[in-house]
Amino acid sequence: MLEAPLESGAHSMSVTVVGSIAFDAVTTPLGERERMLGGAATHFALAASFFDRVHLVGSVGDDFGEDSFAVLATRGTDVSDIERVADGRTLFWAGRYGSDLNSRETLDTKLNVFADFEPKLSAASRDCDVLFLANIQPELQHKVLDQCNSPFVALDSMNLWIENARDALVDVIREVDCLIVNDAELRQLTKRPNVVSAARDVLDWGPSVVVAKQGEYGAALVTADSFFALPAYPLESVVDPTGAGDTFAGGFVGYLARHVDRATDEDVLRPAMAYGTALASFNVEEFGTDRVARLAAAEVHHRVAELRAMTHFERAPVALAR
Ligand code: AMP
Repeated sequence: MLEAPLESGAHSMSVTVVGSIAFDAVTTPLGERERMLGGAATHFALAASFFDRVHLVGSVGDDFGEDSFAVLATRGTDVSDIERVADGRTLFWAGRYGSDLNSRETLDTKLNVFADFEPKLSAASRDCDVLFLANIQPELQHKVLDQCNSPFVALDSMNLWIENARDALVDVIREVDCLIVNDAELRQLTKRPNVVSAARDVLDWGPSVVVAKQGEYGAALVTADSFFALPAYPLESVVDPTGAGDTFAGGFVGYLARHVDRATDEDVLRPAMAYGTALASFNVEEFGTDRVARLAAAEVHHRVAELRAMTHFERAPVALAR
């Protein structure tokens, strides 16, 4: 059974996320935005804040206004470890989606203050129950890991680092408990042709949980002795896929933190997959952070229940020809 939802402010577990905070310019078949709040750590925190106290570690420029800080602080997220760089500008990313929303082209990346980002964790951030290393340079991920005492660490990465810093990335993956990446990146990282054999390689390196995100096809979970997968929640209209993967990770990791002593148990991992999937589906309904920032807990529970009904089937044996 899933436990009752937390009242706001009653968080007893904590998650620290280290990663990008950005302004994004996005064009999708359903519209465009010139400048909206984005970044991997932003999307992660908005989802994880439903479950735990979140400490967000990142850097922004002096163009980052109070209105944006207020969104980051949704549901009590601690923003005091965000460095505000005077005379600097916030990371800017621009992208355009193709008609099927699975293909995305990066039009512009201005790293700005993010280029010199040196994560500094306060005592509260270091003492978290779960650490999430969002997609940043693997060497930086390693430095953060060395500063932190959390019993469970999850990590995301991307093709850029697989191509340019694979050895450093593998080194840091060896030290974490859970790898969460896109399935194409998992294959690229391991040079294996399919998700299951690729995940097996990563499990041999050290992590005990591997999650392969498969975009509109959902996500797959592989551990040493089990496999589980969920489709994405079927939506008729996807407005903006940006940050879906990070929102999924926020829901998944957020849920795990609430059960951190059993974070590798199947009966914790599977509902965590469902919460990640449900949250990601809300994120893509509107541009940027709009939908998840004003999402209500009851809506999340309802969608998880729908996913459960949708993926359940009876054991219905039938005689088969030999
Ligand atoms: P996703 O759609 O899950 O791949 O995440 C997209 C988010 O990643 C956007 O909100 C961007 O601001 C952010 N982003 C884009 N490029 C980078 C980068 N080089 N490093 C870190 N974050 C980035």
